[in-house]
Amino acid sequence: MATEVPPKKTPEQKERRRVPSLVLVHTGNGKGKSSSAFGVVIRSVARSWNVAVIQFLKSGNWNTGEERVCREKLGVDWWAIGEGFSWESEDLSKDEAVAQVAWAHAKNCISSGEYQLVVLDEVTYPANWGWISKEELVSEVIGRPKQTNIVITGRDAPAEFVEIADTVTEMRNVKHAYERGIVAKKGIDY
Ligand code: ATP
Ligand code: MG
Repeated sequence: MATEVPPKKTPEQKERRRVPSLVLVHTGNGKGKSSSAFGVVIRSVARSWNVAVIQFLKSGNWNTGEERVCREKLGVDWWAIGEGFSWESEDLSKDEAVAQVAWAHAKNCISSGEYQLVVLDEVTYPANWGWISKEELVSEVIGRPKQTNIVITGRDAPAEFVEIADTVTEMRNVKHAYERGIVAKKGIDY
């Protein structure tokens, strides 16, 4: 026998309004932060929006499927750091400088007003490491052209980013293949 019954009362309706753009944060330890951002990219491209993706960390898997499709098939302006993860790096200060170049590029993309979507993929890491200024990022996002939507991804989103976002999702890790020694899979993970 069913223990739950469908709700009978219509939920209280809030006053609805439209906004010219939104800020999204995808954070948490589970899988799905970047891939969900790329789902939004597809929706944006479908609406003929100009889209920029800036990747602040390069995953171990060079030449990801999403990069190839977004660049070659979808006409997305894709900017990726050509460096490994910081813990593989010999020269941290160089990574820091590269993150700052990525941020300079991201700022241009946002302030140009040419993009209706700008994805700041994995930007929480350089922000948390103090490589780029959280305050500057926050003021750039708040002062963005009104039609520019922003998606921020990465673990441990700083409170300041959560504060300015309209929608924040925490991907909770229930289980991950990696924890059983299964390596990242082409077509699924990259
Ligand atoms: P995806 O790009 O698949 O949406 P993500 O952006 O949420 O993942 P990242 O932290 O950017 O996750 O991780 C990049 C890579 O690590 C991806 O290949 C992803 O599948 C994998 N990954 C994600 N979450 C975990 C986890 N909890 N443990 C181990 N590996 C993970
Ligand atoms: Mg990611």
